[in-house]
Amino acid sequence: MVATYGIHWFRQDLRLQENPSLLSLSKKVDQIIPIYIFDLNQRIGSTSKWWLEKSLISLYDSIQKHNGKLNIFAGDPEKIISSILKNSNVKYVSWNRLYDPYSIKRDTKIKSIVTSSKIECDSHNGYLLNEPWNIKNKSGTFFKVFTPYWRHCDEILKLKDNKFKKIKINYANSKFKNEITIQDLNLTNKKDQWIKKIEKYWIPGESNAKLQLKKYISQKANNYSVGRDRPDKDLTSKLSPYLHFGEISALEVYDTVNIEKKIDPENKKKFLAELGWRDFSYNLLFHYPDMIEKPIQTKFNKFPWIKNTKNLSLWHNGKTGIPIVDAGMRQLYKTGWMHNRVRMIVGSFLTKNLLLHWKNGEEWFFDTLVDADVGSNSAGWQWISGCGADASPYFRIFNPILQGQKFDPDGDYVKEFVPELNNIPKKYIHNPWEMSMEDQKKYNFEIGTSYPAPIVDLKETRNRALSAFKTIS
Ligand code: FAD
Repeated sequence: MVATYGIHWFRQDLRLQENPSLLSLSKKVDQIIPIYIFDLNQRIGSTSKWWLEKSLISLYDSIQKHNGKLNIFAGDPEKIISSILKNSNVKYVSWNRLYDPYSIKRDTKIKSIVTSSKIECDSHNGYLLNEPWNIKNKSGTFFKVFTPYWRHCDEILKLKDNKFKKIKINYANSKFKNEITIQDLNLTNKKDQWIKKIEKYWIPGESNAKLQLKKYISQKANNYSVGRDRPDKDLTSKLSPYLHFGEISALEVYDTVNIEKKIDPENKKKFLAELGWRDFSYNLLFHYPDMIEKPIQTKFNKFPWIKNTKNLSLWHNGKTGIPIVDAGMRQLYKTGWMHNRVRMIVGSFLTKNLLLHWKNGEEWFFDTLVDADVGSNSAGWQWISGCGADASPYFRIFNPILQGQKFDPDGDYVKEFVPELNNIPKKYIHNPWEMSMEDQKKYNFEIGTSYPAPIVDLKETRNRALSAFKTIS
């Protein structure tokens, strides 16, 4: 008998377990041809390229252990898939769905090309807890506010039987004319010192995603509710890059945490709701496909943003003279990740105190975060700059001194990333410019020399932001 083959196209689902497309395909065909296409037209940041390279190596090795081979390509997926189909005996093509406008358009076209060649084409939800089109409010439209959205989603999830069955998958060991190696993708430059720094903090790949979840449950989960706001404590899961690349599924994280008896209900509820924000971001992106570029609240098209490349560069480099902002920006550059509370603080500072366009922040984050994600990043930036759907009102402007004093009370977070402030008293760690000359001498510290003076006056720029907001209200 002739064996039947099916293609599984890996995208942001770089895992073998709990993968609905692989599972479904394995029931239909004798052998699965696993492919990855580096889509040259898709947006990807520099740090993400590093993660992707490591993740592909890990996936390649896992498939090899199952006697198969991950076939790698680079170029236009439409052309590559068409050429594979012409030269092989494939009966099915399958993938897990993505929800950003570029992927939706591309995948819809590819699906129609595949089915027009009489090959079955299937797609699945392997990325979100609930897909955007399935979640509707009582009036039949989509939710624009998180709390009722999540209440509704959580009810659905608690009713679902999400158990995945483990089955044996046979991977093909195919060769294609135009396939390349992971190294040929040139995703990273080995000499890059910056990448060498990031490497110390993360180990990408499916098995490490599971370890990260285990570590979260055993060491952090029972302190999450309060601890998640403390950048000086390591109490969040740091699962975001693993979830972005699909090395672990959101459903697996949800279920594992949900059934874990050792986690108390309050902490459990809070964590699951945070996971819900990830889905909510895609819910927004699905219904506002322009939101990566344009504000959801159209009145913000007329907002008087300022252009100031000097201030933008000081923000990038963590040299604004505001300790918690600088610590966050340096944490990002050093580790490829920034604590959520600090993402909000640096975002508010950029868009409100500096009055720079939120796209400046969105682009920098997208290039430097290991978890850079079109959905969560654009939703995060629209939220913090006040122009999103479920927006915190524009006039709620974070005071970085008070935020620092509340969430980094001993200044440990600031000191870790801004060592220039190591020796000054705790009282001044979030506002060193307020030290008297006498104190500066005493602690061998000089504002403007040892550490920059603030590039803007916080009170003045707060008022300026409020006046700017009035012009569009
Ligand atoms: P945990 O607190 O352990 O949360 C568990 C998971 O829930 C996270 O891994 C993440 O997948 C999800 N999650 C938690 N908070 C949020 C949130 N507010 N929005 C969406 N999902 C959330 N997250 C990204 O994954 N990619 C981004 O590009 C991104 N950009 C952001 C930009 C701004 C301006 C802001 C304010 C937030 C952004 N976030 C982004 C959301 C959030 O900061 C990160 O998901 C979180 O810090 C990741 O750390 P963690 O895995 O330890 O989170």
